[in-house]
Amino acid sequence: MSVKDKVAVVTGAASGIGKGIAAAFIKAGAKVAIADLNLVGAEATAKELDPSGKMAMGVGMDVSDEAQVDGGFAKVIAAYGGVDIMVCNAGIQIVAPIDQFEFAQWKKMMAIHLDGAFLTTRAAVRDMYKRGKGGSIVYMGSVHSKEASVLKAPYVAAKHGLIGLCKVVAKEGAAHGVRANVVCPGFVRTPLVDKQIPEQAKTLGISEADVIKNVMLKNTVDGEFTTIEDVAAATLFFADFETNALTGQSLVVSHGWFMQ
Ligand code: NAD
Repeated sequence: MSVKDKVAVVTGAASGIGKGIAAAFIKAGAKVAIADLNLVGAEATAKELDPSGKMAMGVGMDVSDEAQVDGGFAKVIAAYGGVDIMVCNAGIQIVAPIDQFEFAQWKKMMAIHLDGAFLTTRAAVRDMYKRGKGGSIVYMGSVHSKEASVLKAPYVAAKHGLIGLCKVVAKEGAAHGVRANVVCPGFVRTPLVDKQIPEQAKTLGISEADVIKNVMLKNTVDGEFTTIEDVAAATLFFADFETNALTGQSLVVSHGWFMQ
């Protein structure tokens, strides 16, 4: 399946990695629904990436809200005729030591990362199964789908959870030609990571430069951040792949931060 002339929904696409994926998909000839909590940002991103207005649309959607997800998908299906590719990318980060983690914050993390992945997967596969043309689901995991870091209990738990969800979708979806895979990036300079640098510096009692050098990039092979373009290319690779030979898998894109 080439993404050309296909329809992709990318959540959290008004910013960072999701925006980069939307740009890569549009360049490859796909129509993209830029779904985000931030409707104004989603519409502005759609206009920025596709001034013609034919290849991208902004959709307001809180991925943790069932009615908003189903309503958003109905809009995309009405406009573009169906959904072939689902990229479950929306996410946030909240860091704190586990003894100080507030239950409400834990639940917020689970709602966005796991409820969000479930609700958008369900909406996508309902359309894919109905149309019978197969499809591809790509989850935005993390090196934290494979490894742990201090201060990130719900993030690590949720990102590990996405791998389990992906494997079930791969098994159930196979009969319908629907594949599911996970991209697991290392640290990428986006607003999500920029926000963490001063927070971690404060909590760990070290400088911001040390957070970058000794916490975020210490385990890479070359001291480099992973780029948005690297993650978009890996996502496109999964979305493009034509057979069930590549399903239920996870691919780490992290400058060696984590090695299998
Ligand atoms: P970002 O903050 O730049 O963008 C996240 C987007 O998600 C924002 O546009 C935000 O409005 C949207 N969003 C937040 N809550 C939402 C909700 N409830 N419903 C819909 N949209 C919502 O972050 P990013 O760094 O681009 O992260 C994107 C994904 O990549 C996340 O799942 C994150 O965990 C993952 N990731 C990021 C890194 C990194 O280093 N930046 C590394 C590994 C994985």
